[in-house]
Amino acid sequence: IKPRFTTMVSLRSDAVSVAETSSILRKLKEECATPLPVLRQVADAMSADMRAGLAAAHGLPMIPSFVEDLPTGNEKGLFYALDLGGTNFRVLRVQLGGKDERVVATDFDQVSIPPQLMSATCEELFDFIALGLAKLAAKDDDRLNLSPGKKGEIGFTFSFPVRQTSIDSGILVKWTKGFAVSGAAGRDVVACLNEAMERQGLDMRVSALVNDAVATLAGAEYWDNDVAVAIILGTGTNACYVEQIDAIPKLQGHVSSSGKMIISTEWGAFSKRLPLTEFDRAMDAASINPGEQIFEKTISGMYLGEIVRLVLLEMAATGELFGKSIPENLYTPFILGTPDLCAMQQDNSGDLQGVGSLLYDKARVESTFSARKTVLEVCDTIVKRGGSLAGAGIVGILQKMEEDSKGVIFGKRTVVAIDGGLYENYPQYRTYMQDSVKELIGSEKSNNLVIEHSKDGSGIGAALLAASNSMYKHDF
Ligand code: BGC
Ligand code: MG
Repeated sequence: IKPRFTTMVSLRSDAVSVAETSSILRKLKEECATPLPVLRQVADAMSADMRAGLAAAHGLPMIPSFVEDLPTGNEKGLFYALDLGGTNFRVLRVQLGGKDERVVATDFDQVSIPPQLMSATCEELFDFIALGLAKLAAKDDDRLNLSPGKKGEIGFTFSFPVRQTSIDSGILVKWTKGFAVSGAAGRDVVACLNEAMERQGLDMRVSALVNDAVATLAGAEYWDNDVAVAIILGTGTNACYVEQIDAIPKLQGHVSSSGKMIISTEWGAFSKRLPLTEFDRAMDAASINPGEQIFEKTISGMYLGEIVRLVLLEMAATGELFGKSIPENLYTPFILGTPDLCAMQQDNSGDLQGVGSLLYDKARVESTFSARKTVLEVCDTIVKRGGSLAGAGIVGILQKMEEDSKGVIFGKRTVVAIDGGLYENYPQYRTYMQDSVKELIGSEKSNNLVIEHSKDGSGIGAALLAASNSMYKHDF
C-alpha cells in the first residue's frame, strides 16, 4: 500500500532542485574518485605505515599474533572454535583426522549477536559466549570423544584489536564495529571467557586466541601452502600476513623456531591519503568511535549503506530528490544497510522497480525513475571507492612483502585468501577490488596472484591453531 502523496508548496522551481541534486552528485564523484595515482598513494602509504607499525608505536597497530607455525596437516583430535565476529557468533566442533583424513567432521551453531549485547556488560557478553559453547558441547556427550582426564580445547576467534601477549592471552585494546561493551577494554579476553566458563560449569581451556583474519589465514593455508595474506571484508575489515621475525623490530629478542610470525595489521585504523567527503566526516563524527578506524569506515560493510543514506538525505533536503518534503525515515541512522545497496545494484529491470520497492520498504521513500537512477549512481560511487581502496590496501601489503625479499610475492604463485560477507555477497565491490589490484600491479605480475574466497576458513583455522598449540600436543 502506497502512502498518500503530499505536496508542499515550494518557492523554488523543479529545475533548481534537479540542478542541486546533480551538483551534489558531481561533487561526490569528484571527491570519491580513485584514479591510479590516488590508489598508488594509498598503497604506498599502507606499506610505509606497516613498516612504522612493526618498528614502534606509530603507524598501523601491526599486532604480533604469536602464531609462528602454520598448520601442517598432521593436526588430530576434537577441538572447539568460538567465533565472535561483528554480526554473528558461531560455535564449532571440529574433528581433525591428520594428514590423510583432514577435517573429519564439523558441527556448528550460529546466531546473530543480539544488538543489546553489543552495549551490555563484559560479563553478559562472555556469559552469552560460554552458554553457546555449553549448548554445543552438550549436544552429544563429547566426553566420549575425549580421552579421560583431557580438557576440551578451544580456538577462540575474537574479531577485535587485541594486544596479544602470547598465543593464548591478550588484552582488548578497544571495541570496533558498533560494539561498546562496558568493562572489557584493557582486560584479558581469555580471562573473561574463563570466568564465564566457570560460571557455566564448563571445564575447557583456550589454547589459541586469534583474530579472525589470522584464523582465516591458518584455515586457508591448511588447504593451500601458497596462501601468504588473508583479508576480512565484512562488517569490519582487517588484513594479516606472514612476516619474518627479523623484520619486526618491536619483537627484538623474541625467539621463534620458524623464524616467522603472522602479523595482524589492523589496517582498519589506516587513515592516510584517503579520498574522503563531508559525508564521511559526518558519519565518523556520529559514530561510537569518532576519529578511529577511518579506512574501515570507508571500505567495510557496516558503513557503506550509512554513507549512502547521508548523501541521499542531503540530496533530499537541498535537491528535493524525493519530492518537496524529506522522507522522515532518511533521518534514521543505518536504515540502509550495505546489503540494501547490493540488492539495488542487482536490479536489471528497465524501470528500476526493484530499487523503487526497496527504497519504499526500507525507508518509506517514494521515488521517480530519475531519482532511482541517482540513488544507483550514489551507491556505485561509494562502493567503487570502497572496493578500489581495499584493492590498494592489498597491493600495499604485497608490495611491502616483495620489497623485503624480492621474488617472494610476484616471482611465484601467491594466494590472498579473503572472507567476509561484503566480499562474498557484493559482486560489484569484488570487481572494483580486483580491478584496482590489477591496475596497480600490472597484468604481468598479477598472473601469479590468486585472490580466492576462503569461506568460513576462520572456524577451521581457529580449531587448527588450538590443535597446534594443544597442551596434549605430544599425543600426535
Ligand atoms: C577489527 C579487527 C577485525 C576486523 C574484521 C575490525 O573492526 O578491528 O580486529 O579483524 O574488524 O572482523
Ligand atoms: Mg567473521
